[in-house]
Amino acid sequence: MSLIVQKFGGTSVADFERIRHVAKRVKKTYDQGNDVVVILSAMAGVTDNLLKMAAQVSDSPDKRELDVLLATGEQTTAALLSMTLKSMNYPARSLLGYQAAVITNHSHGNARIIDIGPDRINSMLNDRTIVIVAGFQGCDKDGNITTLGRGGSDTSAVAIAAALKADVCEIYTDVSGIYTADPNICEKAQKINEISYDEMLNMASLGANVLQIRSVGFAKKYNIPVHVRSSFNEEEGTMVVNENSGMERLVVSAVTHNKDEARITLKKVPDQPGIAAKIFSPISKAGIVIDMIIQNTRPGGETDLTFTVPNADYETALEIEKKVAEKIGAEVVFGDQNIAKVSVIGVGMKNHSGVASTMFNALADENINIIMISTSEIRISCIIEEKYTELAVRVLHTTFGLDKE
Ligand code: ADP
Ligand code: ASP
Ligand code: MG
Repeated sequence: MSLIVQKFGGTSVADFERIRHVAKRVKKTYDQGNDVVVILSAMAGVTDNLLKMAAQVSDSPDKRELDVLLATGEQTTAALLSMTLKSMNYPARSLLGYQAAVITNHSHGNARIIDIGPDRINSMLNDRTIVIVAGFQGCDKDGNITTLGRGGSDTSAVAIAAALKADVCEIYTDVSGIYTADPNICEKAQKINEISYDEMLNMASLGANVLQIRSVGFAKKYNIPVHVRSSFNEEEGTMVVNENSGMERLVVSAVTHNKDEARITLKKVPDQPGIAAKIFSPISKAGIVIDMIIQNTRPGGETDLTFTVPNADYETALEIEKKVAEKIGAEVVFGDQNIAKVSVIGVGMKNHSGVASTMFNALADENINIIMISTSEIRISCIIEEKYTELAVRVLHTTFGLDKE
């Protein structure tokens, strides 16, 4: 008998039939004698709709109240699944984030879990209750409802699995596992049977949002095996585990993309000490995370500086930089939201040369212009025009020999 945490994403609970299907899946695991804790997302599209509702009443909705609103999506599915299981004569009970003692910091909309008290869930499990927890939400120490950022139910699931010392955390989604590229845009992508926490962290940070990045961080820290699989079939999915000697160290093991980026450029920035600090300090004060930065020096003591931010922060960042530009005497500030980042990732890249040039040639052959480049030991990322994203992913997937037979 094991303790199994099962998380079902939005498409897996999209309607009543899917919820009944989830109930059957949970029941099967429970009938095998396992203790089961279920973490749920909101029905597909519901969180987006709630955000739209908030936008109807305010241009910048109060963050505390927005979390109260957003948390209702997961409250709904948790109650519905519990009712469904009860109607099948199974002992289920739903808990909201605060009832499951998911304690977070105060950062509304993007809160971090700081503690989870396992006692209530454990005592329910001791009574052989199926515990259903609303994902994506917690509460701060003052009792305010918080949410964990988009895709945050994954993190709820893994963090609860860690707090309960579960044997496995199963993440049920709409694809059969983690693939060498997003299978929804690259049909030749291959399912990966086993992937290390570190490699998954890289993939998630570069756009493979099949797992929220923080969930992978938790899994690594507490050594929780995560099984990503489909709720639409019975196939074995992908195990995310500690690195082991049986894992292949391919030069390029995956291609990822991220359309959720925008770039901001400042032209004719005076080339003086302290300027970068002036440009980036207000951005970081606003809590905006910068991804890539590129600076070019040109003759005449001026530089051009370009950086990228998440799309959601674009308007705020642009406003900030317009003010900064005025202060420091930079001439032009402009931005572009129609960009995407494509990356090739592989731990084997460390000991290989030529990966970058192969990537650039492959993109050039398709006439795809590279706007920005950044590299690390184990990945190369290019910013391109958003409309070429799918093409770029497929071409790179083929170029690096990842296509399935
Ligand atoms: P859920 O609602 O179940 O949390 P998500 O939409 O958050 O589902 O995550 C699943 C999606 O992640 C898939 O539909 C797929 O389009 C996307 N995805 C992106 N990259 C990958 C990848 N490398 N492997 C699998 N899925 C990926
Ligand atoms: N419902 C939330 C979202 O759409 C959390 C999640 O699904 O993981 O982002
Ligand atoms: Mg998700």
